[in-house]
Amino acid sequence: MLYRETGTAMGTVVEITVADASERKARYAIGKAMAELRRIDASMSRHSPTSDVSRINREGALRKVQVKKEVFDVIHDSVAISEASSGSFDVTVLPLVDLWGFDRERVVPNSGLIAEVLPKVGYKNLVLDQKTGSVGFAVPGMGIDLGAIAKGLAVDRAVEKIVASGVRDAIVDVGGDVRVIGARPGKNSWRIGVLHPRRSGTLLVSFDLRDTAVATSGDYERFFIADGVRYHHILDPAAGQPARGCQSVTVLAHTAAEADACATAAFVLGPEKGLAFLRARRGVRGLIVDAEGVLHWTDPAMAKTAHL
Ligand code: AMP
Ligand code: MG
Repeated sequence: MLYRETGTAMGTVVEITVADASERKARYAIGKAMAELRRIDASMSRHSPTSDVSRINREGALRKVQVKKEVFDVIHDSVAISEASSGSFDVTVLPLVDLWGFDRERVVPNSGLIAEVLPKVGYKNLVLDQKTGSVGFAVPGMGIDLGAIAKGLAVDRAVEKIVASGVRDAIVDVGGDVRVIGARPGKNSWRIGVLHPRRSGTLLVSFDLRDTAVATSGDYERFFIADGVRYHHILDPAAGQPARGCQSVTVLAHTAAEADACATAAFVLGPEKGLAFLRARRGVRGLIVDAEGVLHWTDPAMAKTAHL
């Protein structure tokens, strides 16, 4: 039987599907996974004043802030993705995110304001002390935002809880960042749909997946239109502006954290460099929809197995 529960966490919609003969075991697994999502949210949300991320953002310019190992590790992994993507992925993008304020304002900040904020963005000014597990800022006014990787990480952790509960077949979906284990009963895989970046509510493609994670970054998730131009939440840290090369990027990887981070990185890199970046990573495949709506696949085999 399939058991499915929905909720909210990480600022988005969560859906957990478990296939198991025992309803009791399925519900227990889902409950454990939901609790894990809330726990990760509480330590990694920049909106929660008591989170480790908020502590870093409040005090990181004054002193190095000791944080939980999993928070240190995700920041450490983020820096590695920044290095691999020439800084296109950058968790220190928070001052720009605040300036653009996609949650509230619908105005384009003037170039003077952007220029003022840009020196506060840059992963190279993060101070990471592995020995004490602490994080600080070399420049005042810096801040971190794990929004481009934490959903994926939360999916991975929730999957661990489901596996530990003895379930073999499940889907965890946190706002479109998905990881599947096993298969749908009677089938060899789970079918996972990816939204069309321009036809809202319509699927662009579907994939038949087993033991794989998939994440999508899109310019349709949080945006506003001003004077006919779309301004969205995925920012190019070099320009201080929304990245312009893509409508969406979908990445398949072993873990949802890697898929999530790589989708954002490739989005900012744009179709050409983004494809090269994805192809260079072992176990990673992807689909980039460029600004004109043209599809670019990392490998032909992936295109062949997708359902358009
Ligand atoms: P995603 O939907 O995974 O692509 O993540 C987008 C979110 O990550 C945004 O809402 C911001 O909070 C943050 N973000 C925006 N631009 C970047 C960037 N270049 N690198 C890392 N995080 C970013
Ligand atoms: Mg992401």
